[in-house]
Amino acid sequence: MARILIVEDEERISSFIAKGLRADGHVPTVVADGPTGLDLALSGDHDLMVLDIGLPGMDGFEVLDQLRAQGSRMPVVVLTARDSVGDTVSALEGGADDYMSKPFRFAELQARIRLRLRQTGGAAPGAEDVLEAGGVRLDLRTRRASVDGADVELSAREFTLAEIFMRNAGQVLSREQLLDHVWGFDFDPGSNVVDVYVGYLRRKLGSDTILTVRGMGYRFAT
Ligand code: CA
Repeated sequence: MARILIVEDEERISSFIAKGLRADGHVPTVVADGPTGLDLALSGDHDLMVLDIGLPGMDGFEVLDQLRAQGSRMPVVVLTARDSVGDTVSALEGGADDYMSKPFRFAELQARIRLRLRQTGGAAPGAEDVLEAGGVRLDLRTRRASVDGADVELSAREFTLAEIFMRNAGQVLSREQLLDHVWGFDFDPGSNVVDVYVGYLRRKLGSDTILTVRGMGYRFAT
């Protein structure tokens, strides 16, 4: 569990990130402007900050400058819609540890957050390297999967989907949660891609590993 500060003024994006972090067992705090973000970052109550660049009050570059100027070494992952090299470089020179350009999939952000927390020794629930449930085993470092000891080939998407199911084994996950996590917030919510991929996973991991919960979503059997 890590306490993660999200400084982002677009509600759609901050709630997307907060939802994903909660599903991962983290405790997110969302603020929507630069000065409040800086204030909370300096409080020392958070393990990591996800920081947007375009913010009211004070932009992300300035938040970062002031944070570092005051001696904070809190890990910061910058979010930016501006994917130009110049902005990215100035963000990194300004003391960001990593950046993501929007739009992004939650899984990409999750991977960066996990890495930063691990580097700073923060306790991340996602820091374990192997997930096991119902005979299925995922090795998160080698990205290998097996069922009852036999290797199974999963595509990157299938692996990411299997990972969120297994992190939340026994819990119902909605199509929307799965879509956000694996495909990103800009993906067409009317798409049936989740159902298609659940079908792929059932074929590879066993037809009874992922249960359909009518009207709600899917649940990984434990
Ligand atoms: Ca913004």
